[in-house]
Amino acid sequence: MIRTYSPEEIEKIRESSLLVGKTLAEVAKVIAPGVKTMELERVADAYIRSVGGVPGFKGYEGFPYALCISVNEMVVHGYPSEYELKEGDIVSVDCGVYKNGFHGDSAYTFAVGEVSEPVRRLMEDTKASLYEGIKQAVAGNRTGDIGWAIQQYTESRGYGVVRELCGHGVGEKLHDKPDVPNFGHRGCGTKLKANSVIAIEPMITLGKRHIGLQSNGWGIYTLDGQPAAHYEHDVLITKEGPDILSSFDEIEAVINSKH
Ligand code: MG
Ligand code: MG
Repeated sequence: MIRTYSPEEIEKIRESSLLVGKTLAEVAKVIAPGVKTMELERVADAYIRSVGGVPGFKGYEGFPYALCISVNEMVVHGYPSEYELKEGDIVSVDCGVYKNGFHGDSAYTFAVGEVSEPVRRLMEDTKASLYEGIKQAVAGNRTGDIGWAIQQYTESRGYGVVRELCGHGVGEKLHDKPDVPNFGHRGCGTKLKANSVIAIEPMITLGKRHIGLQSNGWGIYTLDGQPAAHYEHDVLITKEGPDILSSFDEIEAVINSKH
């Protein structure tokens, strides 16, 4: 069964989802060459607690941090560390906020200073593919419609689509049914139900799609060492169309203020 939510519950999921965006905006303020990724973790953890939330990832199946921080060839689930960001890096930051009994889960990939043109396009196209997937997130459509839209948008531009990880139901649980793959066939997969909430999160590679797992059991990296990007929104399914519960507005206001 796919969990559906009452209007009151939906507003609580929206609040948690919006807090993720605000947290990522705080992180965006700090991202610069020379900054250790552990510093981003500290900023996020403190901000989430200051607004009455709990980091949704910390302790989830043993994950030790508030943020997943994945630099360059890391795709997702990287640990914050003593690594110092440098000009030209990209850093994907995935964040969860748990508040009032509900989870928000959203991710954004940031450029550190100026990045190369192919990498800038990877970021832009991965984000655009997220919105292509979101367009298909309508009650009565299927998860395969979302995956197909993301896959055709990215593969037609020469990118790889990571297949081993996928989007998911989100709300009462951080990871719930249904799985929402970033590849697939139109008309296939689980039917999307009105008043359910899914996280859509394309993980797209500049090179080949194949991945490896770090020895810590978490970090996912591209086998060919090429960079990967990751963007994620929480989306309410309705009959009328997608209602994006998370937001990149505050993140992008910070990014634009730096330029
Ligand atoms: Mg996430
Ligand atoms: Mg997620």
